[in-house]
Amino acid sequence: MIYKAMKQLATLALLATAALAQTPAAKTFDMYFLDMEGGHSTLYITPTGQTILIDTGSAGDRDHSRILAALKDAGVKELDYLVSTHYHGDHIGGFEALLKDIPVKHFIDHGTSIEIDRPVVAAFQKLYDETTANKRTIVKPGDKIPFGGVNTVVVTSHSKVLKTPLPGAGKPNAACATFEPRDESRIDPDNPNSVGLLFTYGKFRTINLGDFTWNVEKDLMCPNNPIGTVDLYLTSHHGIDQSGSAALVHGLRPRVAIMHNGQRKGGVAQTYNTLYTSPGLEDLWQIHWAFSGGSEYNAPGRFIANVEEPASLANSILNPPAAQAFGRGRGAGAPPAAPPAPGAAPAAPARGGGGRGPGHDGPAFWIKVSAKADGSFTVTNSRNQFTKSYAAK
Ligand SMILES: [Zn+2]
Repeated sequence: MIYKAMKQLATLALLATAALAQTPAAKTFDMYFLDMEGGHSTLYITPTGQTILIDTGSAGDRDHSRILAALKDAGVKELDYLVSTHYHGDHIGGFEALLKDIPVKHFIDHGTSIEIDRPVVAAFQKLYDETTANKRTIVKPGDKIPFGGVNTVVVTSHSKVLKTPLPGAGKPNAACATFEPRDESRIDPDNPNSVGLLFTYGKFRTINLGDFTWNVEKDLMCPNNPIGTVDLYLTSHHGIDQSGSAALVHGLRPRVAIMHNGQRKGGVAQTYNTLYTSPGLEDLWQIHWAFSGGSEYNAPGRFIANVEEPASLANSILNPPAAQAFGRGRGAGAPPAAPPAPGAAPAAPARGGGGRGPGHDGPAFWIKVSAKADGSFTVTNSRNQFTKSYAAK
């Protein structure tokens, strides 16, 4: 009897070992942060293979082909959700072209654009309404999006913010003490309407706020922080200084930030200073080398997915943009402009944080993040395959 029981146990143990061997490696929650040259598109894939694409970059083949490359790399053949944070050309420009190449099951947005008096916005809104009929959800803060084991909560939409704290959150935010409101009467009014999402996979948390702006950051984060902390923060609004207050960034206390700046959009001194003084920040990764940041502020090259040609880089270091280019006229923290080096090529015209500059059309690289339920995650730069793992806390 005993022998038989032992034999059965041995068989069970063997079966268990076989089952373990067949279990695929621990599934991850994957993210692709794409180079849209200062626009935005990020792909999220749950461990069960469900997909959310947030925004589609600018119109034209450049951004479109980059999105398709990421979808192909991830083996994604249809999207469960396409979220349009707001209706600006650098966020919805690739919408129409993308739908010709990949089926989308469901569309998410903040409601009708408040810039509907602009003809280009009105034309897009008409197309959007027709395309998304019966497959569209207009979300509000607190709404949950069913997303394959990743808890996905709307934290901002149509200038409304989450006010009921998430479990464990709701404590006073010390970073509110230094918040100074801005005159936002001249910013594009659809930005603060951006749909913002918080993703939680086990202990891993990441946030994407679109182009949410400075003053509404205070509405969201002050006096009490309803979100708590995040592991990974996508800089709000491409890292331009209309967004990214300390109240937001220091309140969220990210371990890692990714800035989806372009060559001449985002990456201004104020944004860097807020990030580099954020308690607990371990690393900043960048989609692009930022001219505004120069050698003083840009992250080490291995953390930057897209860098300039060496000659262009050298010129930007030798001839940094004038101080007023840092922070759009708010020169705080900007390094002094150096005199042009003898014989140097003329400097590119200085551009402010929100200025548009030519994008690069050559090969583009993404930053990929893979997160595990224990809260650990790995960030990889597809340009140089530099990878860094962040252990669970
Ligand atoms: Zn934008």
